[in-house]
Amino acid sequence: MHLQIFKSATVKLTLVYIAILICICAFFSFNWYRFATNELNSALRRQSALIERLPNIEETDVLRSVLEAREDRLVEGKRNIARQLLGVNILLLVLGGTGSYFMAKRSLEPIELAHKAQARFTADASHELRTPLAAMQTEIEVALRDSNLTKQAAIGMLKSNLEEVSRLQSLSDGLLRLARQDGGSVTLMPVALQSIFAAVQDRTAKYAQQQGRSITFDQTAATVLADKVSITELLVNLVDNAIKYGRPDGKVRVTVAADQATVQISVVDDGIGMAESELHKIFDRFYRVDSSRSSQVRPGHGLGLSIAQNIAALHGTQITVASKIAVGSTFSFLLQRAAKT
Ligand code: ADP
Repeated sequence: MHLQIFKSATVKLTLVYIAILICICAFFSFNWYRFATNELNSALRRQSALIERLPNIEETDVLRSVLEAREDRLVEGKRNIARQLLGVNILLLVLGGTGSYFMAKRSLEPIELAHKAQARFTADASHELRTPLAAMQTEIEVALRDSNLTKQAAIGMLKSNLEEVSRLQSLSDGLLRLARQDGGSVTLMPVALQSIFAAVQDRTAKYAQQQGRSITFDQTAATVLADKVSITELLVNLVDNAIKYGRPDGKVRVTVAADQATVQISVVDDGIGMAESELHKIFDRFYRVDSSRSSQVRPGHGLGLSIAQNIAALHGTQITVASKIAVGSTFSFLLQRAAKT
């Protein structure tokens, strides 16, 4: 469907380019024809004036045939100019038409790519929404059909539905965040690194405790240029992942390497790690490494890292990752230090 839209848009744009080209060619050809024929006429007039000024000129057969030959040359010259102009115009139209098509295709390419990404995103989001909804629907239908449904079974079903609802809620939160980030911007302000770490600790401590992981934060004092709310969210996503994909008694470290101008923040875990071949894909929306996808104990929708990478981009930076299976992963990004006052 969208392919058809872009095909007809390309054809329309090509026709517009060709129409502009025809107007330009017609304008120049007309003026060039006028200029060239005027030149011919005035050259002929000059010749006539010269002949008339010749002494004792009499109308002889020779003179008449010379004058006729000149008239013929004039008509022939005009025809030649018109023919050449037609040839040049046809060539320009063929070349320009082909060029117009490629230019139209190129102009529409970014829009087509954005359109395709949007369509893929909608399809992925619908797919993610359908799975928990279908699970809930089946459970409710089975419960309703069971005339001997006990109170205990009903409570069990409601609890399971509640889990699906909270999964749907986290998915819709993620989708909303991504939608808000598209084309968004942040205001970078001086923020104390330790105040960001305190906020991250507040939001991740409970989950870390539930999962039996310990988290340590580097104590370096530095002031960075950041939007505190979104950079906290970025770090919470990375620390949440470090906990989620960690080992039972695992350690998560948030480390800092600072120089004069920048601060590098890393989230290091000693968890399950990832294969090298996965590393360039994990920032894609909805991408989950197979082992995480199949695992019930590690819920998620594959949106966390893409949200985090968007936040990094809004800060003019990028999250990089190094990982080794069964050894652990390190996610890092740079922030600019605020100028000392
Ligand atoms: P989610 O965690 O919801 O699946 P993310 O976008 O946060 O989505 O992560 C994408 C994938 O990257 C995860 O499914 C997981 O396979 C992998 N991943 C992310 N962080 C880690 C980590 N610290 N250790 C191992 N794998 C990770």
